Amino acid sequence: MKAYQITNWGQPLEELEVPIPKPTGSEVLIKITSCGVCHSDIHIWDGFFDLGGGKRITLEERGLGLPFTMGHEPVGEVVALGPDATGVSVGDKRIVYPWIGCGTCDACKDNNELLCNNPITVGTRRNGGYAEYLLAPHAKYLVPYDGVDEAFAATAACSGITAYSALKKLKHLTAKQTTLIIGAGGVGLAGIGMAKAILKTKIIVADIDPQKRKAAIELGADEVIDNGAVDAAKNLMTMTNGGPDGVVDFVGAPTTSSFGFQVLAKGGTLVVVGLYGGGMELPLSLLPLKVVNIQGSYVGTQQDLVELLQLMREGRVKSVPIIKRQLSEAPLAIQDLRSGKDIGRYVLINY
Ligand SMILES: [Zn+2]
Ligand SMILES: [Zn+2]
Repeated sequence: MKAYQITNWGQPLEELEVPIPKPTGSEVLIKITSCGVCHSDIHIWDGFFDLGGGKRITLEERGLGLPFTMGHEPVGEVVALGPDATGVSVGDKRIVYPWIGCGTCDACKDNNELLCNNPITVGTRRNGGYAEYLLAPHAKYLVPYDGVDEAFAATAACSGITAYSALKKLKHLTAKQTTLIIGAGGVGLAGIGMAKAILKTKIIVADIDPQKRKAAIELGADEVIDNGAVDAAKNLMTMTNGGPDGVVDFVGAPTTSSFGFQVLAKGGTLVVVGLYGGGMELPLSLLPLKVVNIQGSYVGTQQDLVELLQLMREGRVKSVPIIKRQLSEAPLAIQDLRSGKDIGRYVLINY
């Protein structure tokens, strides 16, 4: 089969001919028909994450060897089952839930696989969907997406549940309150498209790019602001009568999280989702004085995926623009994503 692999960190992906994996035990072989291209794939491709202050964590330190096949938004068809695999049949169409834990630690046993210290995530730890076939470790991670457009369904496995899980953390807010969404990039736009299905609050979107603010309005934002403007914080305080009660930072850069923290209303919650990286200075006395919460949110659970797909089936989630590319164009698609020239989500298709 063809696989589009990282063979040198940061160098163009290579098309390599590798054997089709054979499912053993509980494994299930999936023929990939769609796979989303995620912004975090750029960091994996580079081989490191920026921790701020010149510090980095490399993927090699985390035990990732090359060559490696990325792709953690895989969708496909069951084509073969290992001898112990049950629960799916050949021909079933499924999303592969990628955020899989080791299965043996206390977190995994408590069904908190996202908190596992030794995850075996598809496409970031084990080979993913930038290939013609993929081996899923167990049928329990295969989620049906019937009634949802396939390319749109592919985006649910990472960007979709990342946005869903972050917004869900503000579900306690009421219709009189306001949520500020910072960043209308790929995941941010996905969040804006589903915000009204999850939250009761008014939705304000902040982005420094007028094109992205326009896209935010089209996806259902009540109002937009330019957080790069000098009077942005002051205007926002007036608009919201004392600041938003919830802020979701889909960028996760020093400037955006500082802005979110600065404008947060008393008793509010700042959810940081974006992995842009860097560090921020935090006025510690304001944590108690403003009684605020700062919370991290990382991807989402399999239950989040099931819930989100249901909202998608019901037509309550507006799709970000989807840019389809053939699987064989994977090396080009990720380069185009890095260049940032298109608004929307790339999905590799193989049909
Ligand atoms: Zn992702
Ligand atoms: Zn574990």
